[in-house]
Amino acid sequence: MDTPIQTIKPRHPEKAHRPDQVTTAKRPDWIRVKAPNSPQYHATRETVKALKLHTVCEEAGCPNIGECWTQKHATFMIMGDTCTRACSFCNVKTGKPDALDPFEPLRVATGTMELGLKHVVITSVDRDDLDDGGARHFADVITKTRQKNKGTTIEILTPDFKNKPGAAEVIAKARPDVFNHNLETVPRLYLTIRPGARYFTSLRLLQEIKEIDPSIFTKSGLMVGLGETKEEVLQVMDDLRAADVDFLTIGQYLQPTPKHAKVERYVTPEEFAEYEKFARAKGFLMVSASPLTRSSYHAGDDFEKLRSAREAQLAKQQA
Ligand code: SF4
Repeated sequence: MDTPIQTIKPRHPEKAHRPDQVTTAKRPDWIRVKAPNSPQYHATRETVKALKLHTVCEEAGCPNIGECWTQKHATFMIMGDTCTRACSFCNVKTGKPDALDPFEPLRVATGTMELGLKHVVITSVDRDDLDDGGARHFADVITKTRQKNKGTTIEILTPDFKNKPGAAEVIAKARPDVFNHNLETVPRLYLTIRPGARYFTSLRLLQEIKEIDPSIFTKSGLMVGLGETKEEVLQVMDDLRAADVDFLTIGQYLQPTPKHAKVERYVTPEEFAEYEKFARAKGFLMVSASPLTRSSYHAGDDFEKLRSAREAQLAKQQA
């Protein structure tokens, strides 16, 4: 009898037959990070594992995991570990996802409590298979997390819900402290980098949340180094300000595997500082721009700064 051949399912079946994308730019010193190995890192890992939670820190292979998890700052990823989209920058597993787990809201709430998070960031895979894109599940996670963690502020980083009707209302009604939805890149690159998304749908979602509830902080992020020009980045900043977005993050794109989009160039720390200057001049309340900036990097500290910046702005308007 023939022995069956064991095949390992690729994380990204849609990319498996693509030719490798070779990044020729040399990784600069400012990108290097230490391997995660502190006792606190392992303790965070144990908590996440014991509660059967997924994190974007692990799934996306984030370079900051050593630093963040040492401080117990894990970013939970809900609605499973399998994404229905196939973005060319993202390392999250793709394919047909499982049904939603009704106990997940409680597990996220418990994870927040066990890690002692004062500010929790919750993101998700894209769930284009669901009739509301997963909006109600997000709302349930927010509600349960708040019930069990009085005083913890909640930041969500959501997909675009595939523009499904009513999703923005459901999310705004659950009142996250921060609503984050990343534009990821400039509109010209959407077809290659974020083919399942539409630039103006994403922009509109950010604007809608602010229109429904202006007290919710809105936030968005860009990766650079994908071939965008400085002028295009500045245009995106203007578009975000026109949608009344409060907080902008900009970080360097890193190629997760040779099947993903290649790094066109490494943007220098000086260029990031320049982007930050431009963004502040354009009126964002808060800007974080550096090679290792990620949406959830230092999110708790940044939230405090965001809140203070709004208070200072209101005081100025009332003076
Ligand atoms: S930057 Fe965000 S995704 Fe990366 S390790 Fe920190 S919390 Fe996780």
